[in-house]
Amino acid sequence: MLKDSFGRIHDYLRISLTDKCNLRCVYCHPTNSLQGHHDYAKNMSAKEIEKIVSIFVKEGVNKIRLTGGEPLIRKDAKEIITRLSNFPVSLHITTNGVFIHEFIDTFKQAKLKSVNVSLDSLKKERNFTLSKRDEFERVKCNIDLLLENNFHVKVNVVVMNGINSDEVNDFIEWTKDSHLHIRFIEFMPFPGNKWDHEKVFTHQQIFNVVSEKYKVEKILDEKHDTAKKYFIPNHKGTFAVISTMSEPFCSGCNRIRITTDGKMRNCLFSKTETDLLSALRVGNDITPLIRENLYGKHYMLGGNNDEQWGEKETTSNRRSMLGIGG
Ligand code: SAM
Repeated sequence: MLKDSFGRIHDYLRISLTDKCNLRCVYCHPTNSLQGHHDYAKNMSAKEIEKIVSIFVKEGVNKIRLTGGEPLIRKDAKEIITRLSNFPVSLHITTNGVFIHEFIDTFKQAKLKSVNVSLDSLKKERNFTLSKRDEFERVKCNIDLLLENNFHVKVNVVVMNGINSDEVNDFIEWTKDSHLHIRFIEFMPFPGNKWDHEKVFTHQQIFNVVSEKYKVEKILDEKHDTAKKYFIPNHKGTFAVISTMSEPFCSGCNRIRITTDGKMRNCLFSKTETDLLSALRVGNDITPLIRENLYGKHYMLGGNNDEQWGEKETTSNRRSMLGIGG
């Protein structure tokens, strides 16, 4: 089992398949657009991903999420999903939803446990403003396609104060007749994403907005939950809030991340990383590196404190969300 120095068992691996994306979401894509783009040979191949996963699985990992960048733009995404479906893990994916129709059979064959689709507005024009691409209808259709095929579908919404915060209850209304699980995410700071405190629409604010219109009931949180979950009686779906900024949930953290160039990061906000891929390529055993990295994990938020957030941070090697894998 992989344990950090606080005794937390880490059994959930998030793998970034690419640091490229077909959308340009304002809160995600760094203003310096070259940041985080690597040469392909530096990135993990399908076989290398499979090998690294086999090592993590031996160490007790039982849940894997594929992410990016946009994981489905990778040419060998189908091959990777299929290879990873052979491991005794629950397999999940986070995607912007644009290419799901091309992958639905692969998802079914791989028995994906859940699919998270990002969609930040239910208004076509606003969606274009936020993502800089005109894919709203395609994404909506693909969410329907997932539901028709009985997938567990979560819709990720990054809520930004004064930008899309007026749509919280529109998303809630969507859960009335659809088996959808809306996950409102507090806006997080990454290099080049123009974050500031004022733009964060907090868990409490979201809860207040929803409670004004609906009777809200709590769903019991589980140990590793990053989301505070709720339901509204008579709604088919549920909603949740990922309160990273206002109420961090690090105590039960079980997550490990690997960037597309094979660097292990023990937190989204980590300032350090361990190069697993280079070690693997020269034939070294990467298990001691994995354990050592995890042992150095900070208790909360990668060891960052409030003053360190935002654009002021220039010295660490924190990557953009795109470069880490969200
Ligand atoms: N391309 C895929 C997608 O759109 O879901 C996967 C990668 S994306 C980086 C993963 C998730 O991170 C998305 O739900 C996105 O909304 C979220 N995200 C990106 N930047 C964020 C930020 N600054 N704060 C909060 N969530 C963010």
